[in-house]
Amino acid sequence: MAHPQPRPNVLQIPTYVPGKPPTLRPGMTAYKLSSNENPYPPLPGVVEAATQAVAVMNRYPDMGSTALYDALADRLGVPRTDLALATGSVALIYQLVNAYCETGDEVVYAWRSFEAYPIAVTTAGATSVQVPVTADGRHDLPAMLAAITDRTRIVMVCTPNNPTGPAVTQSELDAFLAEVPPHVVAVVDEAYLEFVRMDDKVDGLATYRAHPNVVLFRTFSKAYGLAGFRVGYAVAQESIAAALRAVSLPFGISGVAQAAAIASLEAQDELLERVEALAVERARIYAALLEMGWDVPEPQGNFVWFALAERTGDFAVAADEAGIVVRPFAGEGARVSIGETEGNDRLLEVARAFLA
Ligand SMILES: *Cc1c(COP(=O)(O)O)cnc(C)c1O
Repeated sequence: MAHPQPRPNVLQIPTYVPGKPPTLRPGMTAYKLSSNENPYPPLPGVVEAATQAVAVMNRYPDMGSTALYDALADRLGVPRTDLALATGSVALIYQLVNAYCETGDEVVYAWRSFEAYPIAVTTAGATSVQVPVTADGRHDLPAMLAAITDRTRIVMVCTPNNPTGPAVTQSELDAFLAEVPPHVVAVVDEAYLEFVRMDDKVDGLATYRAHPNVVLFRTFSKAYGLAGFRVGYAVAQESIAAALRAVSLPFGISGVAQAAAIASLEAQDELLERVEALAVERARIYAALLEMGWDVPEPQGNFVWFALAERTGDFAVAADEAGIVVRPFAGEGARVSIGETEGNDRLLEVARAFLA
Protein backbone atom coordinates (compact mmCIF):
# COMPACT_ATOMS: atom_id res chain seq x y z
CA MET A 1 0.00 0.00 0.00
CA ALA A 2 1.29 3.40 -0.88
CA HIS A 3 1.83 5.72 2.06
CA PRO A 4 2.01 9.51 1.95
CA GLN A 5 5.65 10.55 1.60
CA PRO A 6 7.15 13.79 2.90
CA ARG A 7 9.62 15.65 0.68
CA PRO A 8 12.94 13.69 0.65
CA ASN A 9 14.78 16.40 2.62
CA VAL A 10 12.41 15.90 5.55
CA LEU A 11 13.91 12.46 6.18
CA GLN A 12 17.37 14.05 6.35
CA ILE A 13 16.66 16.68 8.98
CA PRO A 14 19.14 16.22 11.87
CA THR A 15 17.58 15.91 15.32
CA TYR A 16 17.97 18.84 17.69
CA VAL A 17 19.57 17.52 20.88
CA PRO A 18 18.33 19.69 23.76
CA GLY A 19 20.44 20.14 26.90
CA LYS A 20 19.45 17.45 29.40
CA PRO A 21 17.97 18.22 32.81
CA PRO A 22 20.29 17.19 35.65
CA THR A 23 20.13 13.74 37.25
CA LEU A 24 18.56 14.14 40.68
CA ARG A 25 20.84 13.00 43.51
CA PRO A 26 19.58 12.89 47.09
CA GLY A 27 21.17 15.55 49.27
CA MET A 28 22.84 17.35 46.36
CA THR A 29 21.60 20.44 44.50
CA ALA A 30 21.92 19.77 40.79
CA TYR A 31 22.75 22.47 38.23
CA LYS A 32 21.68 22.53 34.60
CA LEU A 33 24.62 23.97 32.66
CA SER A 34 23.62 22.42 29.35
CA SER A 35 21.51 25.01 27.53
CA ASN A 36 23.23 28.40 28.00
CA GLU A 37 20.25 29.61 29.99
CA ASN A 38 20.34 32.54 32.34
CA PRO A 39 20.54 31.24 35.93
CA TYR A 40 18.71 34.28 37.37
CA PRO A 41 14.96 34.49 38.01
CA PRO A 42 12.90 36.85 35.82
CA LEU A 43 13.82 40.54 35.89
CA PRO A 44 11.75 42.84 38.15
CA GLY A 45 8.25 43.50 36.81
CA VAL A 46 8.35 40.66 34.29
CA VAL A 47 6.31 38.10 36.22
CA GLU A 48 3.65 40.77 36.95
CA ALA A 49 3.42 41.81 33.30
CA ALA A 50 3.23 38.21 32.12
CA THR A 51 0.62 37.35 34.75
CA GLN A 52 -1.64 40.17 33.57
CA ALA A 53 -1.40 38.83 30.05
CA VAL A 54 -2.32 35.33 31.24
CA ALA A 55 -5.75 36.62 32.24
CA VAL A 56 -6.66 37.26 28.59
CA MET A 57 -5.55 33.93 27.17
CA ASN A 58 -8.96 33.45 25.56
CA ARG A 59 -8.03 36.21 23.08
CA TYR A 60 -5.54 35.96 20.25
CA PRO A 61 -2.37 37.94 20.89
CA ASP A 62 -1.77 41.23 19.07
CA MET A 63 -0.65 39.71 15.77
CA GLY A 64 1.45 42.73 14.93
CA SER A 65 3.18 42.68 18.35
CA THR A 66 2.76 46.45 18.10
CA ALA A 67 3.91 47.43 21.57
CA LEU A 68 6.99 45.23 21.39
CA TYR A 69 7.97 46.55 17.94
CA ASP A 70 7.59 50.08 19.28
CA ALA A 71 9.67 49.36 22.37
CA LEU A 72 12.46 47.76 20.35
CA ALA A 73 12.50 50.44 17.66
CA ASP A 74 12.75 53.01 20.42
CA ARG A 75 15.49 51.18 22.31
CA LEU A 76 17.62 50.46 19.25
CA GLY A 77 16.97 53.69 17.39
CA VAL A 78 15.87 51.92 14.20
CA PRO A 79 12.68 52.21 12.13
CA ARG A 80 10.07 49.56 12.98
CA THR A 81 10.11 48.54 9.33
CA ASP A 82 13.70 47.32 9.84
CA LEU A 83 12.67 44.85 12.56
CA ALA A 84 11.20 41.34 12.38
CA LEU A 85 10.04 39.63 15.56
CA ALA A 86 9.82 35.85 15.71
CA THR A 87 9.29 32.97 18.12
CA GLY A 88 12.96 32.89 19.11
CA SER A 89 15.87 33.48 16.79
CA VAL A 90 15.71 29.81 15.85
CA ALA A 91 12.50 30.73 14.01
CA LEU A 92 14.30 33.59 12.26
CA ILE A 93 16.77 31.10 10.79
CA TYR A 94 13.91 29.01 9.41
CA GLN A 95 12.17 32.11 8.06
CA LEU A 96 15.29 33.45 6.39
CA VAL A 97 16.09 30.20 4.60
CA ASN A 98 12.45 29.82 3.66
CA ALA A 99 12.32 33.33 2.23
CA TYR A 100 15.63 33.31 0.33
CA CYS A 101 16.46 29.74 -0.73
CA GLU A 102 15.12 27.57 -3.51
CA THR A 103 15.76 23.82 -3.27
CA GLY A 104 19.50 23.20 -3.53
CA ASP A 105 20.56 26.78 -2.88
CA GLU A 106 23.52 26.99 -0.54
CA VAL A 107 23.88 28.38 2.96
CA VAL A 108 27.46 28.83 4.18
CA TYR A 109 28.22 28.73 7.88
CA ALA A 110 30.96 27.71 10.30
CA TRP A 111 31.02 24.26 11.84
CA ARG A 112 30.79 23.37 14.59
CA SER A 113 28.36 26.18 15.25
CA PHE A 114 24.74 26.48 16.35
CA GLU A 115 23.00 23.16 15.84
CA ALA A 116 19.76 24.74 14.60
CA TYR A 117 21.50 25.88 11.38
CA PRO A 118 21.67 22.50 9.59
CA ILE A 119 18.17 21.67 10.83
CA ALA A 120 16.65 24.85 9.38
CA VAL A 121 18.61 24.61 6.13
CA THR A 122 17.65 20.97 5.54
CA THR A 123 14.02 21.64 6.45
CA ALA A 124 13.82 24.19 3.65
CA GLY A 125 15.43 21.81 1.15
CA ALA A 126 18.50 24.04 0.87
CA THR A 127 22.09 22.78 1.09
CA SER A 128 24.46 23.37 4.00
CA VAL A 129 28.07 24.30 3.24
CA GLN A 130 29.92 23.89 6.52
CA VAL A 131 33.34 25.52 6.90
CA PRO A 132 35.37 24.10 9.81
CA VAL A 133 36.26 26.47 12.64
CA THR A 134 39.98 26.89 13.36
CA ALA A 135 41.75 24.85 16.05
CA ASP A 136 41.02 27.61 18.58
CA GLY A 137 37.29 27.58 17.81
CA ARG A 138 37.22 30.72 15.65
CA HIS A 139 35.42 31.32 12.37
CA ASP A 140 37.72 30.87 9.39
CA LEU A 141 36.30 33.88 7.55
CA PRO A 142 38.64 33.67 4.52
CA ALA A 143 37.65 30.01 4.03
CA MET A 144 33.98 30.98 4.36
CA LEU A 145 34.43 33.59 1.61
CA ALA A 146 36.10 30.99 -0.55
CA ALA A 147 33.10 28.69 -0.03
CA ILE A 148 30.65 31.18 -1.57
CA THR A 149 29.47 30.03 -5.01
CA ASP A 150 26.81 31.04 -7.55
CA ARG A 151 24.34 28.98 -5.53
CA THR A 152 25.02 30.76 -2.22
CA ARG A 153 22.08 32.77 -0.92
CA ILE A 154 23.01 33.16 2.76
CA VAL A 155 26.21 33.22 4.80
CA MET A 156 26.02 33.12 8.58
CA VAL A 157 28.48 34.40 11.17
CA CYS A 158 27.73 33.26 14.71
CA THR A 159 29.50 35.62 17.10
CA PRO A 160 30.24 34.65 19.85
CA ASN A 161 30.19 31.18 18.33
CA ASN A 162 28.00 28.59 20.01
CA PRO A 163 29.42 26.18 21.18
CA THR A 164 33.13 27.09 20.88
CA GLY A 165 32.97 30.59 22.42
CA PRO A 166 35.18 33.09 20.55
CA ALA A 167 33.75 36.21 18.88
CA VAL A 168 34.90 37.87 15.67
CA THR A 169 36.24 41.44 15.82
CA GLN A 170 34.68 44.37 13.97
CA SER A 171 37.80 44.59 11.78
CA GLU A 172 37.49 40.92 10.83
CA LEU A 173 33.78 41.31 10.14
CA ASP A 174 34.34 44.46 8.03
CA ALA A 175 36.99 42.73 5.92
CA PHE A 176 34.63 39.76 5.46
CA LEU A 177 31.54 41.79 4.56
CA ALA A 178 33.53 43.82 2.04
CA GLU A 179 33.98 40.60 0.04
CA VAL A 180 30.51 39.03 0.44
CA PRO A 181 28.60 39.59 -2.84
CA PRO A 182 25.78 42.13 -2.34
CA HIS A 183 23.06 39.68 -3.38
CA VAL A 184 24.02 37.23 -0.61
CA VAL A 185 22.33 37.75 2.78
CA ALA A 186 24.95 38.00 5.55
CA VAL A 187 23.61 36.96 8.95
CA VAL A 188 25.32 38.10 12.12
CA ASP A 189 23.86 35.88 14.84
CA GLU A 190 24.36 37.89 18.00
CA ALA A 191 22.54 35.65 20.49
CA TYR A 192 25.21 36.35 23.12
CA LEU A 193 26.13 39.93 22.28
CA GLU A 194 25.49 41.29 25.78
CA PHE A 195 28.24 39.05 27.19
CA VAL A 196 31.05 40.20 24.88
CA ARG A 197 34.01 41.88 26.63
CA MET A 198 36.83 42.46 24.18
CA ASP A 199 38.63 45.08 22.15
CA ASP A 200 37.31 45.88 18.69
CA LYS A 201 34.01 44.19 19.45
CA VAL A 202 31.29 44.07 16.82
CA ASP A 203 28.84 46.98 16.69
CA GLY A 204 25.93 45.16 15.10
CA LEU A 205 23.74 48.21 14.56
CA ALA A 206 26.53 50.17 12.84
CA THR A 207 27.20 47.10 10.69
CA TYR A 208 23.55 46.80 9.63
CA ARG A 209 23.45 50.50 8.81
CA ALA A 210 26.54 50.15 6.61
CA HIS A 211 25.42 47.02 4.71
CA PRO A 212 22.05 46.53 2.97
CA ASN A 213 22.63 42.75 2.88
CA VAL A 214 23.32 42.32 6.63
CA VAL A 215 20.75 40.93 9.04
CA LEU A 216 21.33 40.78 12.81
CA PHE A 217 19.67 38.00 14.79
CA ARG A 218 19.06 38.70 18.46
CA THR A 219 17.13 36.96 21.22
CA PHE A 220 15.48 37.42 24.58
CA SER A 221 16.50 33.86 25.52
CA LYS A 222 20.01 34.33 26.88
CA ALA A 223 20.92 37.61 28.61
CA TYR A 224 17.25 38.55 29.08
CA GLY A 225 16.41 35.20 30.65
CA LEU A 226 13.22 34.51 28.66
CA ALA A 227 14.25 31.24 26.97
CA GLY A 228 10.94 29.61 27.92
CA PHE A 229 8.86 32.32 26.24
CA ARG A 230 10.41 32.23 22.71
CA VAL A 231 11.06 35.76 21.51
CA GLY A 232 13.78 36.81 19.08
CA TYR A 233 14.15 39.56 16.50
CA ALA A 234 16.04 40.50 13.40
CA VAL A 235 17.39 43.91 12.46
CA ALA A 236 17.93 44.49 8.74
CA GLN A 237 17.13 47.02 6.10
CA GLU A 238 13.51 47.01 5.11
CA SER A 239 13.39 44.51 2.25
CA ILE A 240 14.99 41.74 4.29
CA ALA A 241 12.98 42.53 7.44
CA ALA A 242 9.77 42.55 5.38
CA ALA A 243 10.59 39.16 3.83
CA LEU A 244 11.17 37.70 7.30
CA ARG A 245 7.85 39.08 8.52
CA ALA A 246 6.01 37.83 5.42
CA VAL A 247 6.91 34.17 6.02
CA SER A 248 6.33 34.17 9.78
CA LEU A 249 3.61 32.13 11.45
CA PRO A 250 0.60 34.33 12.15
CA PHE A 251 0.06 34.92 15.90
CA GLY A 252 3.34 33.16 16.73
CA ILE A 253 4.42 35.24 19.70
CA SER A 254 2.01 34.77 22.58
CA GLY A 255 0.59 37.71 24.49
CA VAL A 256 2.38 36.53 27.61
CA ALA A 257 5.72 36.48 25.78
CA GLN A 258 5.13 39.95 24.29
CA ALA A 259 4.33 41.37 27.72
CA ALA A 260 7.36 39.71 29.31
CA ALA A 261 9.72 40.95 26.60
CA ILE A 262 8.50 44.54 26.97
CA ALA A 263 8.88 44.40 30.75
CA SER A 264 12.37 42.93 30.36
CA LEU A 265 13.42 45.78 28.10
CA GLU A 266 12.26 48.18 30.80
CA ALA A 267 14.50 46.49 33.38
CA GLN A 268 17.68 47.31 31.47
CA ASP A 269 19.75 48.37 34.49
CA GLU A 270 19.14 45.14 36.41
CA LEU A 271 19.75 43.19 33.23
CA LEU A 272 23.13 44.81 32.68
CA GLU A 273 24.14 44.10 36.29
CA ARG A 274 23.35 40.42 35.90
CA VAL A 275 25.12 40.15 32.60
CA GLU A 276 28.16 41.82 34.13
CA ALA A 277 28.13 39.37 37.04
CA LEU A 278 28.03 36.47 34.58
CA ALA A 279 30.87 37.97 32.53
CA VAL A 280 32.97 38.34 35.69
CA GLU A 281 32.17 34.76 36.64
CA ARG A 282 33.12 33.62 33.14
CA ALA A 283 36.47 35.39 33.44
CA ARG A 284 37.08 33.65 36.76
CA ILE A 285 36.32 30.21 35.28
CA TYR A 286 38.42 30.87 32.18
CA ALA A 287 41.42 32.05 34.21
CA ALA A 288 41.18 29.05 36.56
CA LEU A 289 40.99 26.62 33.62
CA LEU A 290 44.04 28.16 31.93
CA GLU A 291 45.88 28.03 35.23
CA MET A 292 45.13 24.31 35.51
CA GLY A 293 46.56 23.79 32.04
CA TRP A 294 43.33 23.49 30.05
CA ASP A 295 43.48 24.85 26.53
CA VAL A 296 39.96 26.27 26.13
CA PRO A 297 39.05 28.78 23.39
CA GLU A 298 38.46 32.35 24.56
CA PRO A 299 34.86 32.41 25.84
CA GLN A 300 32.84 35.51 24.91
CA GLY A 301 29.36 34.06 25.52
CA ASN A 302 27.91 32.62 28.74
CA PHE A 303 29.60 29.23 28.23
CA VAL A 304 32.97 27.52 27.86
CA TRP A 305 34.05 24.82 25.43
CA PHE A 306 36.20 21.80 26.19
CA ALA A 307 37.51 20.23 22.97
CA LEU A 308 37.75 16.73 24.41
CA ALA A 309 37.34 14.63 21.26
CA GLU A 310 36.81 10.98 22.27
CA ARG A 311 36.95 11.82 26.00
CA THR A 312 33.80 13.97 25.76
CA GLY A 313 31.47 11.27 27.05
CA ASP A 314 33.68 10.55 30.07
CA PHE A 315 33.77 14.23 30.93
CA ALA A 316 29.98 14.49 30.74
CA VAL A 317 29.62 11.47 33.04
CA ALA A 318 32.12 12.92 35.55
CA ALA A 319 30.21 16.21 35.51
CA ASP A 320 26.90 14.45 36.02
CA GLU A 321 28.30 12.61 39.03
CA ALA A 322 29.31 15.97 40.48
CA GLY A 323 25.74 17.25 40.08
CA ILE A 324 26.17 19.39 36.98
CA VAL A 325 24.84 18.59 33.56
CA VAL A 326 26.84 19.77 30.56
CA ARG A 327 26.11 19.55 26.84
CA PRO A 328 28.30 16.90 25.19
CA PHE A 329 28.79 16.82 21.41
CA ALA A 330 29.89 13.20 20.92
CA GLY A 331 33.45 12.86 19.71
CA GLU A 332 33.97 16.63 19.62
CA GLY A 333 33.68 18.36 22.96
CA ALA A 334 31.52 19.57 25.81
CA ARG A 335 29.91 22.97 26.23
CA VAL A 336 29.31 24.16 29.77
CA SER A 337 27.15 27.19 30.57
CA ILE A 338 28.14 29.74 33.20
CA GLY A 339 25.51 29.30 35.90
CA GLU A 340 25.16 29.65 39.65
CA THR A 341 28.51 30.10 41.46
CA GLU A 342 28.17 26.74 43.18
CA GLY A 343 27.65 24.98 39.84
CA ASN A 344 30.62 26.83 38.33
CA ASP A 345 32.80 25.80 41.26
CA ARG A 346 31.81 22.20 40.71
CA LEU A 347 32.80 22.53 37.06
CA LEU A 348 36.27 23.62 38.18
CA GLU A 349 36.51 20.60 40.50
CA VAL A 350 35.48 18.24 37.71
CA ALA A 351 37.91 19.88 35.27
CA ARG A 352 40.77 19.62 37.80
CA ALA A 353 40.05 15.97 38.62
CA PHE A 354 39.74 15.13 34.93
CA LEU A 355 43.27 16.35 34.21
CA ALA A 356 44.72 14.20 37.00
C1 LIG B 1 20.50 30.23 21.86
C2 LIG B 1 20.86 30.69 20.49
C3 LIG B 1 19.93 31.34 19.69
C4 LIG B 1 18.61 31.75 20.23
O1 LIG B 1 17.66 30.87 20.20
P1 LIG B 1 16.15 31.29 20.55
O2 LIG B 1 15.40 30.58 19.51
O3 LIG B 1 16.02 32.77 20.42
O4 LIG B 1 15.93 30.81 21.93
C5 LIG B 1 20.29 31.77 18.44
N1 LIG B 1 21.53 31.59 17.99
C6 LIG B 1 22.46 30.99 18.74
C7 LIG B 1 23.82 30.87 18.22
C8 LIG B 1 22.14 30.51 20.00
O5 LIG B 1 23.08 29.91 20.73
